[in-house]
Amino acid sequence: MTSVPTAYSQLHQLFIHGEWIAGRSARTNTDVDPYSGEVLVEIQQATPEQLNQAYQAAQQAQKKWGSSLPQERAGLLARVAHILDQRAEEIIRWIIRESGSTRLKATIELMSAKGIVLEAAGFPFHMQGDILPSLFPGQSSRVYREPLGVIGVISPWNFPFHLSMRSIAPALATGNTVVLKPASDTPVTGGTLLAAIFEEAGAPAGTLNVVVGAGSEIGDAFVEHPIPRFISFTGSTPVGQGISKLATGGKHIKRVALELGGNAPIVVLDDADIEDAAAGAVAGRFLHQGQICMSTNRAIVDAKVYDQFVEAVARRTRQLKFGNPDQIANVIGPIINTKQLADVQAKVAQALQDGARLVVGGSAQGNVLPPHVLADVEPHWSIAKDETFGPVLPIIRARDEAHALELANASEFGLSSSVYTRDLARGVRFARGIEAGMTHINNMSVGDQPNAPFGGEKNSGLGRFNGRWILEEFTRTHWITVQEQGRAHYPL
Ligand code: NAD
Repeated sequence: MTSVPTAYSQLHQLFIHGEWIAGRSARTNTDVDPYSGEVLVEIQQATPEQLNQAYQAAQQAQKKWGSSLPQERAGLLARVAHILDQRAEEIIRWIIRESGSTRLKATIELMSAKGIVLEAAGFPFHMQGDILPSLFPGQSSRVYREPLGVIGVISPWNFPFHLSMRSIAPALATGNTVVLKPASDTPVTGGTLLAAIFEEAGAPAGTLNVVVGAGSEIGDAFVEHPIPRFISFTGSTPVGQGISKLATGGKHIKRVALELGGNAPIVVLDDADIEDAAAGAVAGRFLHQGQICMSTNRAIVDAKVYDQFVEAVARRTRQLKFGNPDQIANVIGPIINTKQLADVQAKVAQALQDGARLVVGGSAQGNVLPPHVLADVEPHWSIAKDETFGPVLPIIRARDEAHALELANASEFGLSSSVYTRDLARGVRFARGIEAGMTHINNMSVGDQPNAPFGGEKNSGLGRFNGRWILEEFTRTHWITVQEQGRAHYPL
C-alpha cells in the first residue's frame, strides 16, 4: 500500500530557480476561502526584480532542458501524473477551499489536468520535422522542429489548476521552460501547488518558476520582458486585448495564445429531445456556478418547444442543492468573490427590470447565489449579450432554425456552443454554421478533451490548446538546407 505523502508546506512562497523564496514586494496576497471567508495563506508578492530573476532562471535552464532526451521529458510528466494520483485528495481539498469549487468540479478539474499531463508525456517523441523535395540538385531541404525557449503563462481563477497545467505540461514536454503567474484569487491552485508538484517530480531547477504578483506591479513587465518568446494567456477578453497589444504592438513581436471569454449558446431545435436538452442546459450552465468560459450563457429555443423546455429546465433547476461546496450533495457553491457576486446580481436585476420572467431564483446566502432561470429574455439585453460568470440561465425564443442560427452567431464571442436535435445530419449542418471554435451536438457546451483542439473564434481568442495543436503552438519550425554537392550555378 502506498502511504499518503505529507502535505506540502511552502505554498506561501515564490518558486524561482528551484528555490522557495519570500516575495519582496510591499504587497501581500491574502488568499481567502470564498465560502467561509477564512484566510488560507498570505503570500508576500514578487517585485519586478524577482520576476526578472525568474525569467533569467528559466532562460538558463532552457539551454539544457531544450536538448534533453525525449525520455527524460516524458519521464518527468509520468512522475507528475503519479503524484496527481497520490495527492489527489490534497489537491481536491485545495481546489475546493481556494476557488469555492464543489467536490464534483474539483474532481473534474484534477482529472482534466491529469489528462493533459498524460497527453503531453507523448509530445517529446512527436517533435518530428520533415525532409522536403528540393528545387536544386544535390540539396537536402529539411524542416527541424525546435522549442521556442521560455514561455510566460498567465492563468485565471476559475479552473486554475487545469488551466495552468494545460500550458505548463506541453511547454515542458516540448523542451521549453516556464514562468507562471497565477490569478490573485488562486495563487496556490493556479501557481505554487504546481511548483511543489513539479519539484517533487524532479523537474530541474529553473524549468518551472512561479511568481505571485499584482497585475498592476508586474503585469506589464511579465509580458514585455525580452526573454519570453511566447505569452500563453487565459482570462477575460479586455485583459487579453491589452496583453496582445503589449506582446505584439510595442517593442517586441512575441507569439501569443489568447484564450478569452465566451458566450456559449445552447440551441434547442424543434425536433430535440427536450428532457435531454434541459439536462444539458442545466449541467452546462450551473457547473461551477456558471464560472466557466464554455458555460451555457444563453439558451436559444425554437418557439414550438419553448414552453416545454422552460418547464423542464425549471423542474430540474429546483432540484439542485447549493451551499457549502465541500458537502457532496451540493452542486452549486460560492461565487469567487463579493465583487463578482454583485456584478451577477446587478445583471439579474437589470434583466428583471427590462421584463424578463423569473422562473427560478432566490437570494444570496454569503457568496452563494441560488440558481436562476430567466425566461422571455431579449438577445440584446446584457444578461444574454455579455458573459455572465454566475448561475443564471437566460432563455431566448427563436422563430425557427434560421433565426436560431442568426441569434447564436449574434455575439462578439465564439468559443463553445451546443445544439440539440434528433436529426444528426441537421445537427452537423447547424453546427458547421456556428461561428465558434467548438460545437457539441446533443451534449452540453462544457467539454474539453486533451487530444481535441480547444479554442475560440472572434473575441474569444487566438490559438488552440491540446493535442498536436498545442505541440505546434509551443514549437517553431526551422527550414535548413544543406548543399551536399557544390552548387553549379548562382543567379548572378
Ligand atoms: P482576468 O482577465 O481578470 O485575469 C486573468 C489573469 O490575468 C489573472 O491571472 C490576472 O491576475 C491576470 N491579469 C490581470 N490583469 C493583468 C495585466 N494587466 N497584466 C498581466 N496579467 C494580468 O480573468 P479572470 O477573471 O481571472 O477569469 C475569468 C475570465 O477568463 C472569463 O472571461 C472567462 O471566460 C475567461 N476564461 C477563458 C478560458 C478559455 O480557455 N477561453 C478559460 C477560463 C476562463
